[in-house]
Amino acid sequence: MKKIAIIGAGLSGVTLGKKLSQKADVCVFEKGRGLGGRMATRYADPFIFDHGAPYWKVETQEFQEFLTPLMGSVVAEWKGEVISLEKNNPEIKNTSRSSYFVATPHMNSLCKHLAIGLNIKTQCEVRSIKSIQEKKWRLISSSDEDLGLYDIVISTAPAPQTLKLFGDALPKTHELSKATFDSCFSLMIGINQPWDRNWIAANIHHSPIKWIGVNSTKPARNHDLTCLVIHSDSQWTKANLHRDIKEVQDILLKELETLITLDIKNLSYVSIHRWLYSIVHPLNNDRYYIDLDLGLCAVGDWCQMSDIEAVWLKAQKVADFVGSKI
Ligand SMILES: Cc1cc2nc3c(=O)[nH]c(=O)nc-3n(C[C@H](O)[C@H](O)[C@H](O)COP(=O)(O)OP(=O)(O)OC[C@H]3O[C@@H](n4cnc5c(N)ncnc54)[C@H](O)[C@@H]3O)c2cc1C
Repeated sequence: MKKIAIIGAGLSGVTLGKKLSQKADVCVFEKGRGLGGRMATRYADPFIFDHGAPYWKVETQEFQEFLTPLMGSVVAEWKGEVISLEKNNPEIKNTSRSSYFVATPHMNSLCKHLAIGLNIKTQCEVRSIKSIQEKKWRLISSSDEDLGLYDIVISTAPAPQTLKLFGDALPKTHELSKATFDSCFSLMIGINQPWDRNWIAANIHHSPIKWIGVNSTKPARNHDLTCLVIHSDSQWTKANLHRDIKEVQDILLKELETLITLDIKNLSYVSIHRWLYSIVHPLNNDRYYIDLDLGLCAVGDWCQMSDIEAVWLKAQKVADFVGSKI
């Protein structure tokens, strides 16, 4: 059996791992403590936040067919009113009813489910890959551990991180080097009482805040508490990316106070996370990187767009292709 190393246990990594482990000896390496990547969940007992992707949409029959057997166990619909708000204008605009898909009980639950039975090493950052004779790759961790020899290495890390890892092995002009990402701050707020408004999310205009999601209104969450996840606007984030994170937190909190009536002095939990690579700038052409002569592949949202459905479809496609060649 071929030995395959997959870097990253987000949706791309676990989807590839699940498919390819039927044909190869697969090991997934994940630098984080848990699974899910940007489908992330922060546990701050008793508060829980999906501070990466808050939800996804479904457009293709293929993805729908994958989700249908999971509905009610690991996947559910999140329905409710979504409002639009503008800075310095208390009036609510454009109320609409929306239905999104979410993983339950937390956003990372889908990846955890897909990862059942997979050989995964968490808290293990792959620092470098070295080409060894007979077309093998040796993986070395950031703590200098020898992670073994592999026939094929598949990176699902965001494109700039894959570029660093694959280095000179990659053709210089590959599309991977053209992928550019927006960054985002996710502000998390916990309040020790139920959410008392009738909306589940708000799109914000002309403000450092782009989106407010009431995480605790999702299905299978604790509805006795309020958990808010606030995403910063991408242009504002770019201008403030390297600012002290505490300062960013204070600015976003004050901004939130002006947008929705909220007593920011009486919050039970406040925290902030900076996503350096949050959403890729989509390209029209469909791309990925596979060189089976060399034994290197790279896939992820940089291939097309930061959309959970697109990411899953692409991982399936690459797994099918690699699986058919080994
Ligand atoms: C704030 C935010 C909002 C979003 N909103 C939406 C939305 O509304 N709808 C939607 O569909 N999508 C949304 N997305 C995008 C979506 O989350 C991603 O496109 C998708 O989760 C990407 O999955 P992936 O597996 O390709 O990459 P990732 O989830 O990034 O997985 C890559 C994994 O590789 C690991 N890794 C990286 N380098 C190494 C290394 N050297 N060694 C070991 N492990 C490594 C990382 O820790 C990570 O777990 C959002 C993302 C963010 C951050």
